[in-house]
Amino acid sequence: MRKRLIAGNWKLNGDWSLCQQFIAAFAAEKPAKQQADVDVIVCPPAVYLARFAELIQSESSLLQLGAQDVSTEKQGAYTGEIAATMLSELAVGYGIAGHSERRHRFAETDQQVVNKMLNLFAANVTPIVCVGEPIEQREAGKAEDFIESQLIPVATALAEQGLNGRPMAIAYEPIWAVGTGKSATPEQAQSMHAYIRSVIARFIDTDELRVIYGGSVTPDNATALMAMPDIDGALIGGASLDPKQFVALANV
Ligand code: PEP
Repeated sequence: MRKRLIAGNWKLNGDWSLCQQFIAAFAAEKPAKQQADVDVIVCPPAVYLARFAELIQSESSLLQLGAQDVSTEKQGAYTGEIAATMLSELAVGYGIAGHSERRHRFAETDQQVVNKMLNLFAANVTPIVCVGEPIEQREAGKAEDFIESQLIPVATALAEQGLNGRPMAIAYEPIWAVGTGKSATPEQAQSMHAYIRSVIARFIDTDELRVIYGGSVTPDNATALMAMPDIDGALIGGASLDPKQFVALANV
């Protein structure tokens, strides 16, 4: 039985006040679910990570911290970058690699996504690697081919680097569902999640691999999505900016 993973990605949103509201909401609402049932991750902009980490520790919150991105490099003359080792120093437990906005707006390549993932592993930060097809690929009946092409470099690196069994997650985020209000149906997501697991299983064991869904997840559609056997959690953008909705999502 894989432990559920609920991760909120604030993107370029939020402020210090929102960080405090999250701590307060999780303290006040007393989520029915506990850390034994679910990993609840919030990924604020990187500048808030250090203070957020202190607050989480002092309040013993259910929340854990994740980073939205990480450098492909380990250290050196890379102005503006943040290394995986710097994240682990701040008790950041998770790091997103290859979000579709990074792949498209910042032209991130599959190889860069792999390098980010490997840097996260090396720093003992659990990677959440995102894959997702554009609408054109889905409409052309080529969604699985597209996802496979994104997965092969990741799975090859996992096998070659001996990372079998190390905790990680794959986030299936169809681009047409991200930020559009148009979620994949539970059946569409389930079918792709099972496919993702089967592709990775050609390279490493997938019993513990968490495959989470992202794309317009809200408290209204989360229960049906999460009821699917291969959907191990969610990566949430818009709804993760509302503390009450995020508490509700943690409780699904
Ligand atoms: C995301 O950005 O990863 C995402 C899934 O966004 P949203 O929930 O707003 O669709």
